[in-house]
Amino acid sequence: MAKGNNRLSAKDLGFDPAQLAKRYQQERDKRVRDDAEAQFVAVTNDSPFANKYLAEDPYCSYAERDPIKDEREVIIVGGGWVGMITAARLTQAGMPDVRIIESGGDFGGTWYWNRYPGAQCDIESYSYLPLLEETGYMPKLRYSFAPEIYEHAQRIGKHFDLYKNAVFQTWVTQLRWLADESRWLVATNRGDEMKARYVCLGTGPANRPRLPGIPGADTFTGHTFHTSRWDYSYTGGGPEGNLNQLEDKKVAIIGTGATAIQCVPALGASAKELYIFQRTPSSVDKRNNSPTDPQWAASLAPGWQAERQKRFGESILGGLVYPEFVDDGWTRLARNVQSLMGQVENISPDQAGEITQLADFKTMEEIRQRVEQTVDDPQVADKLKAFYNQFCKRPTFNDDYLETFNRPNVTLVDVSSTKGVEQITPRGIVANGKEYEVDCIIYASGFEITSSYERRIGIPIYGINGESIYDHWEKGMRTMHGLMAHGFPNLFLCGGLFVFQLGANYCYGVDVQAEHVAHTISELSKRSTKVAHVSAEAEQHWIEDQLSSESAGMQLVLGGSPESCTPGYYNQEGTAQRYRDVRLESYGKGLGAYRTLLRNWRNAGDFAGLELT
Ligand code: NDP
Repeated sequence: MAKGNNRLSAKDLGFDPAQLAKRYQQERDKRVRDDAEAQFVAVTNDSPFANKYLAEDPYCSYAERDPIKDEREVIIVGGGWVGMITAARLTQAGMPDVRIIESGGDFGGTWYWNRYPGAQCDIESYSYLPLLEETGYMPKLRYSFAPEIYEHAQRIGKHFDLYKNAVFQTWVTQLRWLADESRWLVATNRGDEMKARYVCLGTGPANRPRLPGIPGADTFTGHTFHTSRWDYSYTGGGPEGNLNQLEDKKVAIIGTGATAIQCVPALGASAKELYIFQRTPSSVDKRNNSPTDPQWAASLAPGWQAERQKRFGESILGGLVYPEFVDDGWTRLARNVQSLMGQVENISPDQAGEITQLADFKTMEEIRQRVEQTVDDPQVADKLKAFYNQFCKRPTFNDDYLETFNRPNVTLVDVSSTKGVEQITPRGIVANGKEYEVDCIIYASGFEITSSYERRIGIPIYGINGESIYDHWEKGMRTMHGLMAHGFPNLFLCGGLFVFQLGANYCYGVDVQAEHVAHTISELSKRSTKVAHVSAEAEQHWIEDQLSSESAGMQLVLGGSPESCTPGYYNQEGTAQRYRDVRLESYGKGLGAYRTLLRNWRNAGDFAGLELT
């Protein structure tokens, strides 16, 4: 279309936007359930069936030890990226007395637990893997596989001497503020009673698996496991695939999110029969992996990683798409926005919104065309096409997933018309009125990422006067900077959903906070401060600022609005705006502005908003 026009027609675009909008709405309506998040069973001690998916660690035998009753300057709950990056930055800031408490048998968090075949980082490794320059490591591939990422977690642990004080195989069961001592009491499932001046909560967004509450699930007599507790003793093989013990097995997998997209190719290659139960298809773009070019790696100047992380964030969220990211699937939408904007003159603000929506349609049309080009059976291909805005659900990238549906042993079972799997029996799964007899059911059903705070964090936290943090957050997350809450002194809420929503590259957001937390704690410690407590006014001010802020980047990531998206954890199963305001859990102006805000606060040196004693 020539410059000079100020509208884009269906003919120019190659699709009809009105028809697509209607189809998107129909697909959403088909899936929204009245029980929303209540459709999932919480994995807790009160639910023995569900709890086995959390309690059993298939990767490590249980080591007995005596309860610990001691005191540390800082305790960090969680030894995944949040805990490790925060601990590393604290160490650099001169705070050596830091203990990480971790539920797994080693560092790594999500990369400790998620060892399913094909697991891989979807963000390029040079931006995603933390502390590459500090540890002197260069990833082997543009998109690393899980074993290399897990190994990198251990490299960080050794480099920053984090093993020295760490406690593994331990679940924190309670955090309680001891006002008389100005310290936190940290209780665990091992009978520990540790005390700490500061606590950093670093449990991350994906630490608790979730299970669909399918009637009859506990009656199934075959084998089952959740993808985050992959049972290689049952499947055989390893993270690279070759699941040789499945050769005579009929296997079902429930769920087709980012995890399933990665492990389905290995299951399809090995199982006698594979049934994939899909409620909503994922968008599956190209992977395009490649080995790291040693010459390029040798040419990098100090400071390259932070610069690259910054450029990656800008490239996704509507800024300039830097050359190193023009062939990265995460920027497909941003590139389409720019291309359509370039075809229209004198764009009004309303038109800019319209063009962004058109670019989203175009992006998803391209992704739907990939399905058509790859999957042989047109009826199967149709079911695999995603009809929603790209960031309504987590975009995925894989070169083998769609191909798997061309295998004769693989069956796609669409359960969208019943809003999910109808029933599980002792023998298998019932869907669309038919029973599929299987030997094994694998739950690729995700995590408690956006469910209620209590459910997703899973640790009772009591502050001043014994107030529960979940009561404090009854109407939404109340904090200052997304980090500290009134009534909960010396507690830093690191990572979590707040950072998850700041941009696709979680580790970079975590590091922005870690730098800030490390600086704050070390400065408070130097001044022998006992209590740092956010005032009620400072917390209120932050909330008001959050609720009034708009961000084009956030709008892009939220796919327009959570109410129009197909349900999933991004929009709390289709209910997001109804009872919780997502803006409270993120910084509406984007990660760059958040970093600047925190830096300015630190540079001012007056700890504004904190009452210090
Ligand atoms: P998700 O929550 O994304 O997916 C869960 C799947 O289970 C969905 O397909 C969901 O369908 C389906 N499901 C739930 N209940 C039912 C039911 N009753 N019947 C049928 N299907 C059901 O979990 P994942 O583990 O795939 O991913 C979670 C997150 O972890 C990702 O979004 C990503 O952030 C992260 N991740 C990152 C990776 C990386 O970077 N490499 C890799 C893997 C995960 P529906 O969509 O209809 O609700």
